[in-house]
Amino acid sequence: MGNESVELHNDLRTAVREICAGFPDSYWRQVDAERGYPEAFVKVLTDAGFLAALIPEEFGGSGLGVLEASIILEEINRSGGNAGACHAQMYIMGTVLRHGSDEQKARYLPKVASGELRLQAFAVTEPTSGTDTTRLQTSAVRDGDKYVVNGQKLWISRAEHSDLMLLIARTTRLDRIEKKTDGLSVFLVDLRSAVGNGITIRPLRTMMNHATTEVFFDNLEVPAENLIGEEGRGFRYLIDSLNAERILIAAECVGDGRWFVQRSCAYAKERVVFNRPIGQNQGIQFPLARAHVNVESADLMRMKAAELFDAGRPCGAEANMAKLLAADASWEAANMAIQTHGGFGFAEDYDIERKFRETRLYQVAPISTNLILSYVGEHVLGLPRSF
Ligand SMILES: Cc1cc2nc3c(=O)[nH]c(=O)nc-3n(C[C@H](O)[C@H](O)[C@H](O)COP(=O)(O)OP(=O)(O)OC[C@H]3O[C@@H](n4cnc5c(N)ncnc54)[C@H](O)[C@@H]3O)c2cc1C
Repeated sequence: MGNESVELHNDLRTAVREICAGFPDSYWRQVDAERGYPEAFVKVLTDAGFLAALIPEEFGGSGLGVLEASIILEEINRSGGNAGACHAQMYIMGTVLRHGSDEQKARYLPKVASGELRLQAFAVTEPTSGTDTTRLQTSAVRDGDKYVVNGQKLWISRAEHSDLMLLIARTTRLDRIEKKTDGLSVFLVDLRSAVGNGITIRPLRTMMNHATTEVFFDNLEVPAENLIGEEGRGFRYLIDSLNAERILIAAECVGDGRWFVQRSCAYAKERVVFNRPIGQNQGIQFPLARAHVNVESADLMRMKAAELFDAGRPCGAEANMAKLLAADASWEAANMAIQTHGGFGFAEDYDIERKFRETRLYQVAPISTNLILSYVGEHVLGLPRSF
């Protein structure tokens, strides 16, 4: 990496930090307490063009790589914020960009880049099939120039704050396909007209503020022109976008981890008990040092994965490993931060408990730790397939 790109990253980091400085802990604390949507923050970030980082310049974005995009999200979390409120606006459009028609790209991407359209809901998970996406049951049946969709999705985040939703549904019945990855298709659903006309969205209150929902489809009509790519190939399109998502989430975890370490060091230096700063005790110092070591080493894998991705090289193993290492590192750092802060770790005013709740999600979503280990076992180490 040459000096020029280091410089670019520093400029980028500084620019994001300047925006984040306008949204202090008290802002995120209030949004969290209200289970509200950080509308003001998302607007400023969008207006500054940061959420259009991955959209090519010809469509109005800044045409940056996943590495730069990941730095933007890392800095948000590192500032104490929660990029989960808007990260998907960056990468969901990738499916349209890579597999959409020229007409679809021209129609949607410039508006997604400007923020006129929010495309930040991605409807994959279902209550019965869970992680086993190939068994999803929501169906889309072709009827002339439209598809009729029926079924249910669970944990669909930001659906209430999105104009468009990327939906994966079954277009060929499971008992009529040869390969289990066949028969699924991807659609762009216009939520502005669909809600109340075939779609019902029900918010789900969770441990952290994540604007997640349940989405019900009852004879929803989707114009056939909203099918992305070829019918039946949706699972492959989905897989394509997962590496980018994993690298970006890994970067958010790195941001969280750095925040926990920085806050805990500051506290450990200033909190005096038994006439000495608690950070002088190695019982406090070592977990802090270990958390730092873990976060920084996870960051190396995240950088490696991002560089491979941006060079157009295979990066499935690195993207998965980065996500696992970074999620583990941020979670361990979160635990350390509670311990370092003693009782104050649980006090809402210190924000540790909020970030602790937020970072815990990444052990489970968008892919759980076990599923990553199984990917590494089977695809990297060549061990026998387990399921
Ligand atoms: C706050 C939140 C936001 C989310 N946002 C979205 C979203 O926007 N869009 C979307 O589509 N989904 C979303 N999800 C869903 C998320 O991706 C899933 O929760 C996650 O993939 C796990 O699926 P599941 O909950 O069905 O767990 P399950 O598949 O039921 O798994 C439960 C546990 O069993 C383990 N397990 C399952 N099978 C195996 C196996 N063979 N070997 C070992 N362990 C196994 C899993 O690792 C997991 O720990 C969100 C979830 C949450 C909680």
